[in-house]
Amino acid sequence: MSQSKRENQEIEADTKVWYEDGNIVLIAGSTAFKLYKGLLASVSPVLKDMFSLARPDNDLGIPGTETFDGCPTVRTTDSPRDLRCFLYTITTSFVELLDRNTLVPFARLAATVRIAHKYQAEQVLHAAGSRLRAFFTPDVIAELHAQTATHVPQDNVWESFWDRKQRECGVLVPMTGATGVEAVSIARLLGYDDMLPLALLLCCACAEPLELRNGVRRADGAVVRLSDGDYLGCVQAAPALARTLHMLGAAVMHKCAQATPPGGTVTHSVCKKVLVVMGNEYQKEPVSGPLLDGFVWFQWRRSLPKAYAEYAQAVCDKCFLRMVQTFRETFSDMTLYVEKESSYIQIVVGGGAK
Ligand SMILES: [Zn+2]
Repeated sequence: MSQSKRENQEIEADTKVWYEDGNIVLIAGSTAFKLYKGLLASVSPVLKDMFSLARPDNDLGIPGTETFDGCPTVRTTDSPRDLRCFLYTITTSFVELLDRNTLVPFARLAATVRIAHKYQAEQVLHAAGSRLRAFFTPDVIAELHAQTATHVPQDNVWESFWDRKQRECGVLVPMTGATGVEAVSIARLLGYDDMLPLALLLCCACAEPLELRNGVRRADGAVVRLSDGDYLGCVQAAPALARTLHMLGAAVMHKCAQATPPGGTVTHSVCKKVLVVMGNEYQKEPVSGPLLDGFVWFQWRRSLPKAYAEYAQAVCDKCFLRMVQTFRETFSDMTLYVEKESSYIQIVVGGGAK
């Protein structure tokens, strides 16, 4: 009794999840959450079991019994921040998960999913997990190119695509390596293999080498890191992926040089020669620039390939449009998938295997 009183003195009531008329207190770290036993038990059978052990009657001397603010109390080993996200979701913001017009931060969904998984809160897990999963689709490259087919992006192609996808899925997802690492951990935790291609691509494209190796720090200080297999997969996949994308770009130029143009003219033979030279020069260029650039039409890249900058203007409008079209067809037919054995990211051109 005296010990639990002493411990309680250091514990503070949470400012968000604290209902005065609640009948159970959960304590994580030095944060207490007061809410309703029946509500929690209805979403989680694990919490229901834990409550059956928590008795308000300290005088009986039953181990584990403790009170806080006059309520039976359950201590957990959870991160207070994660637990707050989960409890906030089930008490206050569950409706946000139903309303896709509300953009829910990725970190909050991820925290909710972690706790929901631990306490087997299946409905909460499904609602939050499916929202995350919807964002991390393996057909991301096809979607990116479908968007650029309908309008010319004003800013960076990936960022404008990302913005649209966030609104579509109702989740705010920072385009960072930290997001990639966190998304991989969620995918691995829940067995959502279909999230892995984009999550690992994000790791390859946006994470710093030390983030890949040492992990990233969440807002509550906890570190989340890739498994050894995923780390090795990213380290090996990133340069190979960049090389594949580079060669695909050169292949598009060469393909256009060989194809018979609609209404071929004398001018076109000049275009053909230009396309061959451009393709050869581009192929010889060192692979450089951001990895995500490799999926994007040359003109819209953050760093313009030298050969393209030098020769593209010498190609006539008709052949130029043909090259844009060929590029789009090649890349929109592309599926990202992760090879199961090695977690190595592979690109399949022409669709099919996932
Ligand atoms: Zn031409």
